[in-house]
Amino acid sequence: MSIQHTKCPGCGATVFSQPAMSGSNRPESTIQCEYCGSQFRVSNPNYRPDPVVHTTINTYTTTYRNVPDSRPARSSGWSNASDREHKVARILGYIIGWLMSPFVLGLWIAAFMKVDDFPIMIPAMFTGIMLFFFFIASRSGRELRRRRGV
Ligand SMILES: [Zn+2]
Repeated sequence: MSIQHTKCPGCGATVFSQPAMSGSNRPESTIQCEYCGSQFRVSNPNYRPDPVVHTTINTYTTTYRNVPDSRPARSSGWSNASDREHKVARILGYIIGWLMSPFVLGLWIAAFMKVDDFPIMIPAMFTGIMLFFFFIASRSGRELRRRRGV
């Protein structure tokens, strides 16, 4: 930051521009003479025009893998999910499914032992949930194998 000094057009005294003024990025700055109080404008030697902002349009290249399997993906979300997500879905699906199985079996036994007051809907519903987890797990496993080209 250079301190600019000019002659005051009013009284001829040497006037220094305030550092704050020279620091601002304006083509001119207003200086007040400390002797006679008159204000005048001087060009700012530190002025730099604003750089022209170039807008770059980023082009995203999508790489399509040529998978030998000719079956089209049923849902784009399924095939867009990452390998890691499928691995988590496969593991969690099997774990939850297997953890549920003794519970579901117990529900079926209970339903058959107490036929009158135990609605068959309950074991059927939990069986459906369990099968859903197994289904998710097996679909993720199949998707992972498809990606590996096995
Ligand atoms: Zn002056």
